[in-house]
Amino acid sequence: MKTDAKSKLESWAEAGTAPGFARLDGEAFPVFEPGWVWLVGAGPGAPGLMSLLCYHAMQACDVVVYDALVNPDILRWVRLGAEIQYAGKRGGKPSPLQRDISERLIELASSGKRVLRLKGGDPFMFGRGGEECQHLAKAGIPFRIVPGITSGVGGLAYAGLPATHRDTNHSVIFLTGHDASGKMPANVDWAAVARASPVIVMYMAVKHLSEIARALRDGGRADRDPLTIVSNATMPDQTVLETTLGAVDEFLAANTPATPAIVVLGRISEWRPILDWYDSRLKENPIG
Ligand code: SAH
Repeated sequence: MKTDAKSKLESWAEAGTAPGFARLDGEAFPVFEPGWVWLVGAGPGAPGLMSLLCYHAMQACDVVVYDALVNPDILRWVRLGAEIQYAGKRGGKPSPLQRDISERLIELASSGKRVLRLKGGDPFMFGRGGEECQHLAKAGIPFRIVPGITSGVGGLAYAGLPATHRDTNHSVIFLTGHDASGKMPANVDWAAVARASPVIVMYMAVKHLSEIARALRDGGRADRDPLTIVSNATMPDQTVLETTLGAVDEFLAANTPATPAIVVLGRISEWRPILDWYDSRLKENPIG
């Protein structure tokens, strides 16, 4: 079978068609069956970074259950008549228990609804998507997973930070600065992490940043290692702050980074002067 792009284009030409003949609404998207849950990543924020399957799910669902980190601007594409439910914190109240959200998904799907569970970034990157699917599987609810662009990769790209670059790092570590109890995760081997990779991408790390920095320095990480904090990545209010590992405490005394934020340790920040492309004019565009 011919699969490379050149032969594909040639076969279209032979058949009298050409690029441009296809329309998205004519595509054979997978059918969103009643009683199913689609667990979908909405991307880091900018609406244009969602996937076609995410868009399709918004057209086909009966109910959307979305998280706090989902940019509400994308909900305008949810089909008219679908119900929109919020599953995050509300007015300072604690967030609903994970079990309660899973129960809600199970109830909605059991009543025959097409349930779109919409999460920020990628549902399996520190998004508890695995836990939700475990509950669904246990309850016998069929589900599909639609990955999304995670903030720790796509969000960094909007700040001119390549997660890998052959001249700086051949590996990257993703970690969370928070465990289920809200504390700095005790079961991360900070000394091993400090040594293992030139670049460490940290989610939910602002709250315990001072402690985390200490653990990484104790693990042998150099004080001069650059630390970059990208807040509201891919959004018009994106901000980037830069310091070094050794200067974190002074930095935090003078600055309060906005959240959500990704914290990156490592020299990929040295590419920023060249690669930072998301300027104030581009930020005016509401799609991305
Ligand atoms: N599943 C999500 C992560 C959920 S955990 C993903 O794949 O991106 C929540 C953390 O994600 C936040 O505390 C923050 O560290 C990060 N995050 C999510 N969206 C972000 C954004 N637009 N800008 C910066 N950080 C973001």
